[in-house]
Amino acid sequence: MSTVAVVERVPFAPPDIGAPEIAEVVATLESGWLSTGPRVRRFEEAFAEYIGAAHAVALNSCTAGLHLSLLACGAGPGNEVITTPLTFCSTANAIVHCGATPVFADVDARTGNLDPSAAEAAITPRTRALLPVHYAGRPVDVTGFRALAERYGLALIEDAAHCIEGVSGGRKIGTTADFTSFSFYATKNVTTGEGGMVTTASADAAERIRIASSHGLSRQAWSRYLQPGPVHYELVMPGFKYNMSDLQAAIGLHQLASIRERYERRLEICGMYDAALGDLPVRRFDPVPAGDVHGLHLYTIQIDAAGSLTRDEVSRRMAGAGVATSIHFPALHLHRYYAERFGFTRGRYPQAERISDTVLSLPLSSALSDDQITRVIDVTRGAFGA
Ligand SMILES: *Cc1c(COP(=O)(O)O)cnc(C)c1O
Repeated sequence: MSTVAVVERVPFAPPDIGAPEIAEVVATLESGWLSTGPRVRRFEEAFAEYIGAAHAVALNSCTAGLHLSLLACGAGPGNEVITTPLTFCSTANAIVHCGATPVFADVDARTGNLDPSAAEAAITPRTRALLPVHYAGRPVDVTGFRALAERYGLALIEDAAHCIEGVSGGRKIGTTADFTSFSFYATKNVTTGEGGMVTTASADAAERIRIASSHGLSRQAWSRYLQPGPVHYELVMPGFKYNMSDLQAAIGLHQLASIRERYERRLEICGMYDAALGDLPVRRFDPVPAGDVHGLHLYTIQIDAAGSLTRDEVSRRMAGAGVATSIHFPALHLHRYYAERFGFTRGRYPQAERISDTVLSLPLSSALSDDQITRVIDVTRGAFGA
């Protein structure tokens, strides 16, 4: 009788949750305060300190952070916001939610990031803001974007969903834009299950985002609770329900405290991939300039030089062998909504389209073991017949 070895599937980006996160969630449940409260305040302070930002406002997602940052910049009907087509849909959806028009500009083939010269060419008298994304964790040229924003009088908002750890031109991501929005979604470098954070240098803007995230009430529940006696608060705008809960912050506090160890592990995994897959016929993005720090959110290869072997075939073969992969990202302008509403067709943003057609992300998470990474390597090589 033959035995069939049961091989466990290697997941794409399993969360790395430790005992301290679990204990803090339990303590929060026992504390009697579940919504936005003392743990959210502590998480905001710890995050602002980690980034070196003057202010940090915790929200229920990065998408919410982009939406409120755009509103704070006055993005709305009649104006335009320039962004990349090589991103998750929510980057551009947030622009649409403000009533503004998303304007895409092509990416730099060497980095996958919005190309500052393409962004400059897309500026019109209606442009209100620039919204670059630190793709895969690779910081954009923040000095270049800052200069563009100043020259044309535009706001600069950065989508740093992939890039909590990033440094560009000697400056920490989160300190270089008017607003920077981070994600704590389940697969991200720091997770709270769902969650986000906006950093800004402006106390006034931080307060407006905080109010907008809590229905538009001038005081949040926690400060109403702290103040004994009758408390007067006012509705100052029709706001949103975008606040983070203390249960989420409980996880975030300990994820942030161990961010370095998880980064080091991802760095190690990327080194294993580089060493073991370096001879495959794939295209890779350029290394970051000396001194810059890549957030290492995604490990990507581009399959466009392997004869008739396509990215989709490699992905299928790997899935068949129990290894999950992903695509970051199917070019946004070719998604049905954007294509139909704005009339985009293939050929409009050739670099983003080429990357979108050929890029494959391999599993990357500090929760993956050496054995799992070895499996990914064997299965990837096998898919190429190497
Ligand atoms: C994950 C992601 C977002 C959205 O983050 P949420 O916290 O889920 O709203 C935005 N932009 C990019 C590039 C992302 O990868």
